[in-house]
Amino acid sequence: MSATPGVSARRLLDDLDALAAIGGRPDGGVDRVAGTAEDLRARRWLAEQMRARGLLSRTDDIGNVFGHTPNAAKRRLLVGSHTDTVPAGGRLDGAYGVIAALEVLTTLHEHGHPAADALEIVSFWDEEGAQPQSPGGMTGSTALCADPHLAEITGFVELHIEQGPRMELAGQELCVVDGIVGVDRHLIRAVGEPNHAGTTPFPLRKDAGRAMARAAAAAHDLMQSVSDTLVGNIGSFTLEPGAPNVIPGAAHLVLELRSPHEDALTRCAELILEHTRAIAAEEGCTVEHRMLSHKPVVAFDESMRTLVEKVCRSTGRPAGSLYSYAGHDAGVMSAHVPTAMVFVPSTRGVSHSPHEHTPDRLLTQGAQVLLETVIAHHDSH
Ligand SMILES: [Zn+2]
Repeated sequence: MSATPGVSARRLLDDLDALAAIGGRPDGGVDRVAGTAEDLRARRWLAEQMRARGLLSRTDDIGNVFGHTPNAAKRRLLVGSHTDTVPAGGRLDGAYGVIAALEVLTTLHEHGHPAADALEIVSFWDEEGAQPQSPGGMTGSTALCADPHLAEITGFVELHIEQGPRMELAGQELCVVDGIVGVDRHLIRAVGEPNHAGTTPFPLRKDAGRAMARAAAAAHDLMQSVSDTLVGNIGSFTLEPGAPNVIPGAAHLVLELRSPHEDALTRCAELILEHTRAIAAEEGCTVEHRMLSHKPVVAFDESMRTLVEKVCRSTGRPAGSLYSYAGHDAGVMSAHVPTAMVFVPSTRGVSHSPHEHTPDRLLTQGAQVLLETVIAHHDSH
């Protein structure tokens, strides 16, 4: 058996620097929202890099940038992530997975390794959904899943920064992602009676704002009582009509819940609703509820997860495992092809910020694990 090729740390880090300079901000962050001039420039830069390394590049109708070797096999493992960012985003979210994929393909191609021809790399279009006109993100991966090109894809692997503090706190350098949490959004609205804010005595008020505020204040503790794997947020809270001298006749909030367990999502919503109804009754109000959206829990393919775990273990870099609490293109791909996702730690858990950081050694190690995963996948097919 020939020695396993090693990725070039220098080239990987230089490429990350070069990409970060496109839409780069003085504070070290990146502005490369999907569809902006900077995003398009980064995609052209990526395609140029591929061609300069003897690879073929293609951009599809929606804007996904693909690359493979000139002698590519009919069916290929897809590896990559996204090069668009949130406004004032970081240099690693998405970019790391794309540059690592480019480094893996470049290295395998240089070495004439047979796995190179069974590999395709991608930068997906509009993962973040940061533009008002975006359908909500994951736009490129969703489009690929409805495209005939999908028939040529044997699986998908996405390398990404964790974007949270858990790995660093646990001292983990690599994690194989179990899946992506389910996300439920509920609109909860209390209805009372609008009235004059000066002339209406307290006992006669049906203050929907007060009812909703009390319910919102209690929600955090209720979430924690359901499961320590569940997190939630009330990020939108509206008083109606919303005037300083009118007692709110109605008030609504959007409750978002995330958990790797569907039953925890359901139980938590029921508990919060029950509690909100009780508080509303005390305030002389009633409660309306509508589920706005349900994104089911994603569990990544077991054989793909095992493959990555084995690669990590056999090379003396044991990986932990965790659920991702953020959405990714891998979640979309996973419904159609066997998919795995690998995380490297985020320093202090910071992401979607100019201060995104992961030590160079761990960025390089993650790319090497990606390369060895691609080889192991090739050998097993
Ligand atoms: Zn991302």
